[in-house]
Parts: sequence; C-alpha cells; structure tokens
Amino acid sequence: MGVYVGFDMVPRLGPGEDDTRTWILFIAAVKEYYKNDEQVKVKDHHLRFEAGDGPVLPLYGPQFLRFSSKIVGQGDANTPVVDYIRRVHLYAVHLYESRIRFWEAENDAHGFYDWRDVHEASRNFCEGNSRVTASHFANTNDENSDYPMNRGNSNLYETLEIPAKGKGLVARCNIKRGTRILSEKPLFVVQNVKTDTLNINVAAKLKPLSREQQSKFLSLHNNFPGKRALAGLVHTNALPCGPDQCGIYPEICRINNSCRPNCYHSWNEAVGQETIHALRDILAGEELTISYRPGSSSSVRQPELKAGFGFDCKCELCSLPAAELAASDARLRKIASLDEQIANPGAMIARPLSVLRACREFLRVVREEYPDNNDAAAGNEGPAAAAPLVSRVYCDAMQVAAAHGDQARARVFAERGYRARLECEGEDSPDTRQAKRLMQEPSAIPSFGQCGMKWRTSKTAQPGKEAIGEEGFEKWLWRL
Ligand SMILES: [Zn+2]
Repeated sequence: MGVYVGFDMVPRLGPGEDDTRTWILFIAAVKEYYKNDEQVKVKDHHLRFEAGDGPVLPLYGPQFLRFSSKIVGQGDANTPVVDYIRRVHLYAVHLYESRIRFWEAENDAHGFYDWRDVHEASRNFCEGNSRVTASHFANTNDENSDYPMNRGNSNLYETLEIPAKGKGLVARCNIKRGTRILSEKPLFVVQNVKTDTLNINVAAKLKPLSREQQSKFLSLHNNFPGKRALAGLVHTNALPCGPDQCGIYPEICRINNSCRPNCYHSWNEAVGQETIHALRDILAGEELTISYRPGSSSSVRQPELKAGFGFDCKCELCSLPAAELAASDARLRKIASLDEQIANPGAMIARPLSVLRACREFLRVVREEYPDNNDAAAGNEGPAAAAPLVSRVYCDAMQVAAAHGDQARARVFAERGYRARLECEGEDSPDTRQAKRLMQEPSAIPSFGQCGMKWRTSKTAQPGKEAIGEEGFEKWLWRL
C-alpha cells in the first residue's frame, strides 16, 4: 500500500520553438536549485532524483509525461522525494500553469496518462532514444489492452482547455493510425448556411432538443457573436454531412485546426454519423486536430482561417521557418496543379500514360509534403497522414487503367486506394466498401472499357513481386 503523488503535462509539449524554449528554462531552473544535491544526478538525456521511485525528467521536453513517486507510509510525507515533487511541481506550474496536473492517489495512481505510456516514454529517454515514439497503442489487435477500439471510444481522448485555443480534444493514450477515435450523430443538420433566415431556422431546430443538447450547442465556441448568435455558432462549427447540408456535433466541433492535422473527419452515410480517424500514430497527450482548410498554400489558407474562424493559425505547418514554409507552399501548389491534370477527362482518353505519370508524380510530392515515420509499415504505398489524398489518386489511376480495359493494373490501384480509404474512413464507410467491391471486380469500375480496350488484361494478369522485385512491379504498374 502507498500513495502516489505527482503531476502530468497535458497536453504534452511539442517540438516547436516556444515549447522547446520554456523546457530549457525549466530544466535550467531545476538544475540550478539542486546543483549541490548529490541525490539529483544529471545524466546524458535526463535528470534523475534518487529518492522514492527515482522520478526522472527528460532533457527533451516532448518526451515528458509525468513526474511522480510512490510514498510508503505516513512518515514518508517528509522524505526527500516529497520535497522534490513539490519543488519541481512549483517550477513547472510557474512556466506551464494549467498544463500541469497535480494528482495524488492511493493504490494505483490516476493521473491523466496510462502508466504503460508513462513507463514507455521514460524508458525511451533514459535509454537515450532521441525520437518520440510509442510501441503500445489503443488497438483492437491487442487483447490485453485497456482500450480496445470498439469498447466505446470515450477512453481515447478527453476534452480540455488548451492554452490560447479554448477547448480541444487531447489523446489520453497512444492511438494507432487508422483507429476510429470518435463517431458522432449530429445534434441537428441545416440545409443552407448562406441564407438570411439561418438564425430563425436554427432557433426552430433547437426547440425540439433536450435542455442538455441545447446547452451543448450553446456552449460551443462562437466566432460571430452578436445579434445573430445562433447563426454565428453554425458558421463557426458546422461540418458538411452529405451533399448540401451541414451538421453540428457536440464533441467533434471542439476539435481544433491544424494545417497538418493528425485526424481526418468524414461523413459516413451508412451509419448517419461523422467519424474521426487517426491519420498517423498519435501519442498520449497530443491534441487531436483536423484541417479546416485542407490543401491550400499558406497565403490562401491563413487569411481564410482568420476570416472564417477568427484566429491566426500557429499550427505546426504555419509556424515552420520561412524557407520550409515556402517549400511546403510550392509542394501544395504542385499537388493542386497535378490534381487538375489528373481530373481532365480529355487527357484520360487521349493521353492516359501522361495521366498515370501525373498520378505517380502526385504521390511523390505528397510523400514529401506529409513526412511520415511509419509510412513503410504494412505495405502502405503512401503516407498515412495523407490517406485521403492517396486514396483519391489511386482511385483516379484505377479509372484510367480500367477505361482502357486494363483490369490487372486497375485491380492493384483499387486495392491501394481501398487500403488508404480504410485508414481514414473505416470499413463501414460506403466509399471504403465501394473501393473493396471494385478491387474484387475491376470490370465493374464505371469507366471500364469506355476508351477502348487497347490495354486489355485479365484481372489476374499481374506479375509476381517475387519474380520481378518491388521495383520491377512498380515499373509494370505505372507502365514505365
Ligand atoms: Zn496552420
């Protein structure tokens, strides 16, 4: 028996300049205070306090989740470890304020984070791993996991105050790419958000809702308060759901923007819900983000975000150094121009090879723009962070191959498109199901044979990768 005492950093620190600077200040202050204390050891990658459980602080901020120790017995209230925790907590609160969560619990401690994630993070930095990674995930494949994917998803995140952003959603545990984090029915839908009568329409929609539902809606952030406050709430929060209509969601509408988001939102017509999937592995303590203005360069999206939502975006992408931001903008413009070339129906008929080349180039630029540390895992042909784009371009390549009678290649493109769609929309999404059907039966692709059959192949005519190797297979696939 004993009492655990400590504090967590929520949300966890990011690799950005501001977070890095404050962590350096924090570590310097702690080191200075304990410079004559022999029980506080400065190691290569962390500070170790040799008392109680031996709490540690990493020298690199994004690796930090928790500083804590178990205290056994009453007498321990005056042991050095309690003093260490109190003092370090004081410094942390001074710099990080509400981001620091102090807790005290008997038996198993209950801070924000799962112990498994905390232990893994500290093992990583004590061993000198400079990358911030995770190997345990909230995943259905892990039968021993406390957070199986389908056991209700409320364990995966918590709604919190985010410094300088208002409310937001923060991951409570490590979440694997492709996980459905959240699925939510709209409180109500509106057909046309551009009408003058929106305020009256919304008032009518609110009437039949319960008090609780009404207050959920009214507590959302409003960027356009004033006379038409209800319309303002819809303008600030609505997300498209199906053609020509928008929905309001009590939880999903609290997800903040990042121009390089870690989540993807889509409307799933089959279940009548908006879904949120992890676009990449998300670490415990990271804020969940979606893109409010996907795909546009900074000079386009930043003014739009300011006008539409009232904030100057300081996301990971927007706060890159000028030269890196310019390179990202150039790639985003390139992606948009390739997209236009690919979508040109005349080109699909007259110059199918050039369209395939544009698709391949599109994937190359996307890979550069969305760097991904687990891209190569599980045979993924595109970065997970860009799964919606990757899925779309493979679908385009599939249409081109099918339009000229090439079932074998159409099938491979369809399969890759299906896998990317599965990651960002889940198995029950109508688009994912459709992609799977076409993968199994390429002759059912709508464009099949429409431009003739000059590339005719059977659906099983693909060469074996064992025989010609990965590179040979890609050459065959893209007709190089
Ligand atoms: Zn941004």
